[in-house]
Amino acid sequence: MDLGIAGRRALVCASSRGLGRACAVALAAEGVHVTLTARGAQALADTARHIRETYRVEVVEVVGDITTPQGRSEALQAAGPVDILVNNAGGPPPGDFRDWTRDDWMRAIDANMLTPIELMKATVDGMMGRGFGRIVNITSAAVKAPIDVLGLSNGARSGLTGFVAGLARKTVRSNVTINNLLPGPFATDRLTAVARGQAASTGVSADEILARRAAENPAGRFGDPAEFGAACAFLCGAAAGFITGQNIVLDGGAYPGTL
Ligand code: NAP
Repeated sequence: MDLGIAGRRALVCASSRGLGRACAVALAAEGVHVTLTARGAQALADTARHIRETYRVEVVEVVGDITTPQGRSEALQAAGPVDILVNNAGGPPPGDFRDWTRDDWMRAIDANMLTPIELMKATVDGMMGRGFGRIVNITSAAVKAPIDVLGLSNGARSGLTGFVAGLARKTVRSNVTINNLLPGPFATDRLTAVARGQAASTGVSADEILARRAAENPAGRFGDPAEFGAACAFLCGAAAGFITGQNIVLDGGAYPGTL
């Protein structure tokens, strides 16, 4: 299926690995030129090389922390006017809310709420002026069904979700859509890192924890990041202009609600 976005330009944040990388790859497969960001240079260079060698698109790499004003400014400058923005950053650490300080909260809110809002602020008017824009925010299934130990994530991402619900209705008339993708468990480095952390505190091996968790999912497995990338690319497609302000859960059916 041709999504009708070949030649468009995308800024895909936090995209050297995992879900962000999968979104960049899926967009590049549609002929979209991509600007990639991450803090670590090596994985970013590897991903950029892979995309360059596989698809006929321009790839720009920006090493930096997207949750800082400098990181955002450098990413935006390198990307130029973008048609597609994929907002992503690392998730906050788990814990007990009694232990979290105001600084912990501000870090989570900066990374998972204010950073995407700042990037939308910097790009949305240009998109509206050009009559095309697609913004996808990678949030979490925890927005729909909170995970108790991820209170920082539940809180900060819910703030972003509330903000997007309002803005998405203001931009769609100019063919600029804003949607959130809510990942459940996807097989990425983050999932493995969380399992390793649990292994250290429970005495059960990380492999065993992962196997049990995958088996508990209605799909009997974790999501493949490529499946996430494909959903992102679809929402960025020319034909997706009537989908806005939505929160789409990708979790193999783990969320048990009828609606
Ligand atoms: P991942 O495999 O750990 O990959 C994270 C990517 O983001 C890496 O490329 C990382 O590169 C980059 N990154 C992290 N913080 C950054 C920052 N401040 N500035 C720039 N780049 C940054 O994680 P993932 O599984 O793809 O998760 C992506 C997001 O989805 C996270 O917010 C996560 O909490 C959320 N999520 C994931 C799952 C899941 O099952 N995978 C489920 C629910 C929610 P560097 O480290 O080099 O910067």
